[in-house]
Amino acid sequence: MAKLTPMIQQYIDIKEQYKDCLLLFRVGDFYEMFFEDAVIGAKALEIALTARDGDKNIPLAGVPYHSLDSYLGKLIKKGFKVAICEQVEDPKECKGIVKREVVRVITPGTVTDENLLESKDNNFICSISTYSNKYGLSLLDNSTGEFFFTEGKIDLNGIFSLLVKYNPAEIIVFDDNPFLEKLNLLNANISIYEIKKENLTQFNQLLSNVNNYPIALKAVELLLSYIMDTQKSQLKHINHIYFINSQEYMALDYSTIRNLEITTTIKDNKKEGSLLWVLDKTKSPMGGRKLKQWILNPLLQQDKINYRLDIVEKLYNNLYTTEKLSKLIDSIYDLERIGTKIVYNTVNPKDLVALKTSLSKLPLIKDSLLQLDHPSLNDLANKIVLLDDLVDIIDKGIVDNPPTHVKEGGIIKKGFNEELDKLKYTAENGRKWLGEYEHKLKSETGIKTLKIGYNKVFGYYIEVTRTNTHLVPESFQRKQTLANAERYFTAELKEYEELILGAADKIIQLEYNLFCDIRQAALDKINEIQKNSEIIAELDCYCTFAIIASENNYTKPIVDTSDEIIIKAGRHPVIEQMIAKENFISNDTLMDCRENRMLIITGPNMAGKSTYMRQVALITLMAQIGSFVPAKSAKIGIVDRIFTRVGASDDLSSGQSTFMVEMNELANILKNATKKSLIILDEVGRGTSTFDGMSIAQGAVEYILNPDILGAKTLFATHYHQLTSLEEKYSGIKNYSIAVKEENDQITFLHSIIPGGSDKSYGIQVAKLAGVPSQVIRRAKEILHQLENGYDSNNQVATTKDEDLFSHAFEDYLVIIEELKDLDLNNITPIEAMMFLSSIKKKL
Ligand code: ADP
Repeated sequence: MAKLTPMIQQYIDIKEQYKDCLLLFRVGDFYEMFFEDAVIGAKALEIALTARDGDKNIPLAGVPYHSLDSYLGKLIKKGFKVAICEQVEDPKECKGIVKREVVRVITPGTVTDENLLESKDNNFICSISTYSNKYGLSLLDNSTGEFFFTEGKIDLNGIFSLLVKYNPAEIIVFDDNPFLEKLNLLNANISIYEIKKENLTQFNQLLSNVNNYPIALKAVELLLSYIMDTQKSQLKHINHIYFINSQEYMALDYSTIRNLEITTTIKDNKKEGSLLWVLDKTKSPMGGRKLKQWILNPLLQQDKINYRLDIVEKLYNNLYTTEKLSKLIDSIYDLERIGTKIVYNTVNPKDLVALKTSLSKLPLIKDSLLQLDHPSLNDLANKIVLLDDLVDIIDKGIVDNPPTHVKEGGIIKKGFNEELDKLKYTAENGRKWLGEYEHKLKSETGIKTLKIGYNKVFGYYIEVTRTNTHLVPESFQRKQTLANAERYFTAELKEYEELILGAADKIIQLEYNLFCDIRQAALDKINEIQKNSEIIAELDCYCTFAIIASENNYTKPIVDTSDEIIIKAGRHPVIEQMIAKENFISNDTLMDCRENRMLIITGPNMAGKSTYMRQVALITLMAQIGSFVPAKSAKIGIVDRIFTRVGASDDLSSGQSTFMVEMNELANILKNATKKSLIILDEVGRGTSTFDGMSIAQGAVEYILNPDILGAKTLFATHYHQLTSLEEKYSGIKNYSIAVKEENDQITFLHSIIPGGSDKSYGIQVAKLAGVPSQVIRRAKEILHQLENGYDSNNQVATTKDEDLFSHAFEDYLVIIEELKDLDLNNITPIEAMMFLSSIKKKL
């Protein structure tokens, strides 16, 4: 290869230090990528891949500097890390090659630009450390400054549960991380990194809060090192760190978050249709983020839950004021993220006006809160720090509708700075003078077409068409000759030109300096801005809870430490929103750790078993986040965890069979649940043969039921009607079923839960409802009849190992019935249906 130019050599040297990044290398008005980066970048951005002039072998792709943001967005969304390399000296003033430096590395977990972020979602970066049998973990949202850590015994389920909750965009680990492979299954970018002590000096105070947790300390140090290396900025917004105390918050594992559709639906991963969708009527971005954190971290302490519920009650009883507060909060911008931009010096004049508008609402919010006169709301009100001086300086300094650019002027209001006003006066008067001067020259020379113009190269000039040049007086000096005109200047014009042009440059520079002063004033108050933001976020959540409680007809639950869950006329918060409200059938619930520990629920498919069980879980969860609940009344004894085993889930353990996943989930529940947990089991053992499945289900029931082993409150929906006989055998079990109206072989689901087991599964009727051909239905009825007659009802539950009781033929029939049950009629072609029928026939 030919000798490299100095610039390419410089590129190679810098790229060497940022191997894992795409390097965007500033060359004039472009950010260029070279070599392999050019190939990768051009493909990712769908831009042209060319070659560098002169160095035909060097691939090149570039983007114009002013559209950097949108290209950056694309790259970050695709999971790239991007190093921005700027020219750090003025090319006009340097000899040889201009100096360049990487000024910032942007990674999926460290983005701060709001265009690249969802306003109601946090964007976390996470770090993990391990030592012996312990792990430490820290989480930071760089765009808001929220920073958490925790430490505990290594338990993969626990770690994943945290990761799923916080959904980090990026995970940083040490190179000896023992579960790197598992982490790779998550939807996050993973980087291996090392602590750099020199990066930590500015964080001494913050780190002292973590000193008692040596393993977590390593994780926090790792994360801060990484942030310092990538952000290359002062990071003043990172000034607090909070311990995530597992005693304080309910652990929700991946399957529970998914199965209860807490933040997204299972089917299409969308917010719409989830609990969050129903509850999130927050008005501010930070309120939206806070609510999501609350919903994923239900509380465990009675006083903390009631603190929230009492506030919501007060607001609920004063809806007029609450609506007013809510409107005020609606006009508050994303204070947290504006705060971060202030720290990063990326804040623009528009942001500062947004800051002013937001801060100026604080006194009104404070007044409204104090009016309500409730101890907790008074406390909140008194925590608000009014920043009148800052509001005042922004108001006096920055025009109401400023540009987003900081170096093009037009930012500062008249009257803010005397020198600026003088310069502007000069510039404006200069222009006025030019008009008058042109007028004067016209009348003096008698040249009607004479005009004064301006261009960048020649400055101001007097233009006279060629036909009139003989009228030009001596004081005009020739400047430029055009095809049919001459351009002149005069001593007077020259003098004004200097004044006007000088003023324009000075105005822009001075406006920028004044803007920086105002920005500094905001930076001085960054802690207060963050604190206010936190209060607004919290308040937004309370107002939201009060307003939706009123709109959706919720009631305040009684939350205590008893072992009872007593719900009168409970509803499923999401389903009732999906169907016409009056069509939702409400149901009661009575559970405790004594006579009503385990509710076994039977009933046909589509009757409403899952809906009912999820409804109990969701009402419990809502109560524990401090929300009112969809019921006539509810008394919720705090549960320490909610476990769910529902259907097959497409989860992290990909590659495993459905049955294996199901058993993993069951194992997890049996290992981790306590007496204080709430367990939802929606079918257990379906993925294997009937007898296997039934045996596992009964084994699990007995294990959970036994107060010496577990004794957790459990809702168990099952197809195995035989399990209802357990009610007689053990105390603590109650059978329930979902009412079905049966008339002339037609069934209607009544959706109401009634005591007692159902002895029929109505599977065949449901199959008929679904349109299974009548021939199959007829045959299935015959088989069922034979089976029922040949079945020993005393041995309904397989309490014996003697399998000879059941003939092989019987097993075959059961298999056929199971196959029929599993048949998805919506997804079967006529040919497949024929083949299915023929396969059944062969087995008979
Ligand atoms: P199962 O678990 O018994 O198969 P689901 O709980 O999935 O049944 O309920 C099936 C459908 O029935 C739900 O999607 C819902 O539309 C309707 N449904 C369930 N419970 C109720 C109810 N209490 N009131 C009105 N409709 C209900």
